[in-house]
Amino acid sequence: MKALVLKEFRQFALEDFPVPAIQADEVLVRVRACGICGSDVHGMDGSSGRRIPPIVMGHEAAGTIAEIGSEVTGWKKGDRVTFDSTVSCGVCWYCRRGEINLCDNRRVLGVSCGEYRRHGAFAEFVAVPQRILYRIPTNITYEQAAMVEAVSVAVHAVERTPLTLNASVAVIGTGMIGLLVVQVLRARGCGEIIAVDLDDGKLKLASRFGATQTVKVHADDLQKGTLRFTTGVDAAFEVVGLPATVKMAIDSVRKGGSVTLVGNLKPQVELPLQAVVTRELTLIGTCGSAGEYPACLDLIASGKVNVTEFISATPPLAEGAQWFERLYAGEKGLMKVLLKP
Ligand SMILES: [Zn+2]
Ligand SMILES: [Zn+2]
Repeated sequence: MKALVLKEFRQFALEDFPVPAIQADEVLVRVRACGICGSDVHGMDGSSGRRIPPIVMGHEAAGTIAEIGSEVTGWKKGDRVTFDSTVSCGVCWYCRRGEINLCDNRRVLGVSCGEYRRHGAFAEFVAVPQRILYRIPTNITYEQAAMVEAVSVAVHAVERTPLTLNASVAVIGTGMIGLLVVQVLRARGCGEIIAVDLDDGKLKLASRFGATQTVKVHADDLQKGTLRFTTGVDAAFEVVGLPATVKMAIDSVRKGGSVTLVGNLKPQVELPLQAVVTRELTLIGTCGSAGEYPACLDLIASGKVNVTEFISATPPLAEGAQWFERLYAGEKGLMKVLLKP
């Protein structure tokens, strides 16, 4: 089969690669679309230590089943599927509680980090265990299905947050994940949804996706940490991960409110400890998703969550290297690029 192989840091080759052998509990998926994730773009230069060459990256994919392992039940060749980006072990303490995103033995598809190397879906075929497979609704495309991982991050964040009907919320940072959080909050029955960002275009999209109010902040304030944003919402979602925006999220909630932390650009931020303690705030970390894919696929299928808006291009796998470079350069306006093997 053909695969897009990261040969050296920032150096790709489209080459012949062995079709992965499947275990008894695995299926072989013929990949139809696979998204380039930010973690792939930042990983390809070696800075994250999680894409050590040679590796076939790619963990946001959809396709059809081409082959079935001897112990697989309930699936057949030709079924349209997507799968978790992470292979959870299914047997550890966390997996048995359904907290598969916290699995002790998790292996992300398309990652090589020294501890393991698991080839991913920038290839014609990828092998995945049955326990992470999900059926794609008939009315959505492979491209839409490949966006499910991003939707699941937003859904998981919202699911972890205590929200009553008609709750007021703020979403700090409206990149793709922030915009998905806005859409999921609307579907979740929130009342006031305030979107906050630096970028007018993204705020405009936020309004279209259900934000009832937008707040534009300025880069200077962000840098100086002089942002003031105090509204007293029930819950804030921080989808950036910088000191100033974390502070802003904490400032924006009412006494007894909650702040859900999704962004993690910086490994460490300063915490306004007394504000959190004396106002009895709840801080919630959230990472990935834990089996929310079926709900996410339904949200896409029913049109309650729009993912098509985020798909910037769907080039063939052969053009992968140049699209990686364009994303690496931070080309403005590029959101999700899906490669088609
Ligand atoms: Zn990803
Ligand atoms: Zn596990």
